[in-house]
Amino acid sequence: MATDKVSTEYGSLVFTDADMQERLPKPVYKELRQTIDDGKPIDLGIANAVAHAMKEWALEHGATHFTHWFQPLTGITSEKHDAFINPKDDGTVLMAFSGKELVQGEPDASSFPSGGLRATFEARGYTVWDPMSPAFIKDEVLCIPTAFISYTGEALDKKTPLLRSEVALEEQAKRMLKLFGKEPRRVVTTCGPEQEYFLIKEEDYEARPDLILTGRTLFGCPPAKGQELEEHYFGAIRPTVNAFMKEVDDELWKLGIPAKTKHNEVAPSQHELAPIFEQGSLAVDDNLLTMEKLKLLATHHGLACLEHEKPFDYVNGSGKHDNWSLSADGENLLEPGANPEDNLQFLVVLACLVAAVDEHADLMRASVASAGNDHRLGANEAPPAIISIFLGDALSPVVDALIKKERAESQSREEIDLGVPAIPNVLRDNTDRNRTSPFAFTGNKFEFRMCGSQQNLSDPNVVLNTAVAEQFDRFVQYVADRSDEDFTKVAVRFVRHTFRDHQRVLFDGNGYSEDWEKEAEKRGLPNLKSTADALPCLVKPENIALFEKYGVLTESESRARYISAAEQYAKLLNIEANTMSYMVRHMYLPALIDYSGDLATAIATKKEIGITGKAEQDLTQQITDGIDKIYETVDLLEKKNAEAQAVEDCGEQDTFYHEEVIPVMDDLRAVVDAMERLCGHDWWPVPSYNRMLFWV
Ligand code: ADP
Ligand code: MG
Repeated sequence: MATDKVSTEYGSLVFTDADMQERLPKPVYKELRQTIDDGKPIDLGIANAVAHAMKEWALEHGATHFTHWFQPLTGITSEKHDAFINPKDDGTVLMAFSGKELVQGEPDASSFPSGGLRATFEARGYTVWDPMSPAFIKDEVLCIPTAFISYTGEALDKKTPLLRSEVALEEQAKRMLKLFGKEPRRVVTTCGPEQEYFLIKEEDYEARPDLILTGRTLFGCPPAKGQELEEHYFGAIRPTVNAFMKEVDDELWKLGIPAKTKHNEVAPSQHELAPIFEQGSLAVDDNLLTMEKLKLLATHHGLACLEHEKPFDYVNGSGKHDNWSLSADGENLLEPGANPEDNLQFLVVLACLVAAVDEHADLMRASVASAGNDHRLGANEAPPAIISIFLGDALSPVVDALIKKERAESQSREEIDLGVPAIPNVLRDNTDRNRTSPFAFTGNKFEFRMCGSQQNLSDPNVVLNTAVAEQFDRFVQYVADRSDEDFTKVAVRFVRHTFRDHQRVLFDGNGYSEDWEKEAEKRGLPNLKSTADALPCLVKPENIALFEKYGVLTESESRARYISAAEQYAKLLNIEANTMSYMVRHMYLPALIDYSGDLATAIATKKEIGITGKAEQDLTQQITDGIDKIYETVDLLEKKNAEAQAVEDCGEQDTFYHEEVIPVMDDLRAVVDAMERLCGHDWWPVPSYNRMLFWV
């Protein structure tokens, strides 16, 4: 897009605040703003007026259909398009869109995962307009961001609990801030998701059933070259990729998505896109749209965009860093600030975060658990599965000093002088360079680095928001219980005690090292290595109670989410196992049989003229042995997978997949990959790692 066009086209496909203001009668606009800003329920009269204006705007921008756009438990987005048309008796057509259609939709909910919340015979589900996330146009369809709930009001999606957790956090943050004499109108979370992805040639993608069916390569011997030369990170962007990135920027900008940074990542053919942060739930919506656009637009350039956490072994996988903070009418609550009062408030927020993450480390871990992410976490390319917090050189001494003062049991005034003003402004310059930490303080925000590239960031943010709300609540209670004491003293004591009690979660060292794993165990930090280990904590009584207390998830919703995630894991592994057998039986075995057959023919032909080819004989033998081994292992995999499928309890099924099926999948891959090294290029049925990762 030409520079002058960027500013005019930015947000042109979004029904923005400016559009609303221009098109809506003043009182209607005012009421709508109250809904958006203060969460006031909307009445049908207002909804009708908004729907009319929205439709007129959409028609002017070429839309013919509308859809409620929502996020079922699969994590991806769903839509069902309805035309605006309303035929009349005289054979003409009216373009209509009512307030009711804007506010509520009723998709047949029976085919979406519900984790057992809803029997198929009562499959009613409703989509409900989220006026906080603006409507937009995509492929001539007016998309209305919505929450998705069951007939009885239970959340069937990712957005509903996120919105509820934002409400809970805002309420508790306001109570906390009131103690500092502040009464902001809004406290919102801010989120900036850095999205990693791979780009390969579309023709290679199409030739790999594993990529098509599972999003990752299930086979492939190591490429001759990996990422060891460290030349790809921030390297010059190839013209095809550059053209793709430009188109992505243009499309995202039209949708009002503030795409900001793009660069090559560590692994060959790996890239990253980071937007400027936005309000939390909006950032999640925009990230989902970004992921959709990345996939779609890649095809315009003969490319395929891989968003899986681990498309290729032997090189880094892809994550999505969740940069998170809190904003009170624009004041960043994780900004250390220049004066002591702000520092104390900052310390309270920081202490609450530390406590939240320590107390709910298991939930944080579970919120990023997926079959894909299991390949990254703890594999020395992403943080380990242990949750810890990095505070860095500027903050850690302050925290240490605060804790030590407590050991001296001094309650005098100087403790404030020691701890609080000691937070220097240098913090802001002291950006974190410790990439091995799962949860790092990066100057004025936290960065949660365990999230998987294809995941919906609602899950981790629901946990963070709720866990922090609980701590703010605890702080307010702590102060109330000591109302006869000086507030500043009480607050400093709260901060000190909180850091002291949760010191075990603070770790500034190398998170990839084995020593840390041992040390973390000594400290009693959970190390939930796989999805099968992590998911069950979603239904631990204390975690169910946390979400219930803050109105984020009812007990049945928590249980449903666990079941849905556990089932998803087993389903994905079943698909991977099936894809492996398919590829082995239909592609690899025939190729190897052909190749060894051709070798055998060559040996026989040579023998006729008195030549014995040692290499040919040796190769034929090795490949024949390989064929036998593959044949045996694929049989075993099918048997194990059938056993896994028969396990009824979803938790036990996940464990069975993790412990019994995955090792056989690994064995099968190892023997096929060994054969790939021996087999002739013309016989091998799929593109190699060399070709996929190093295309030009
Ligand atoms: P890195 O050094 O990790 O690559 P950047 O400094 O470029 O990261 O920022 C990463 C992301 O953090 C960006 O999306 C940015 O907008 C976001 N970010 C910055 N400040 C905040 C904040 N206060 N809250 C949430 N996200 C933020
Ligand atoms: Mg980052």
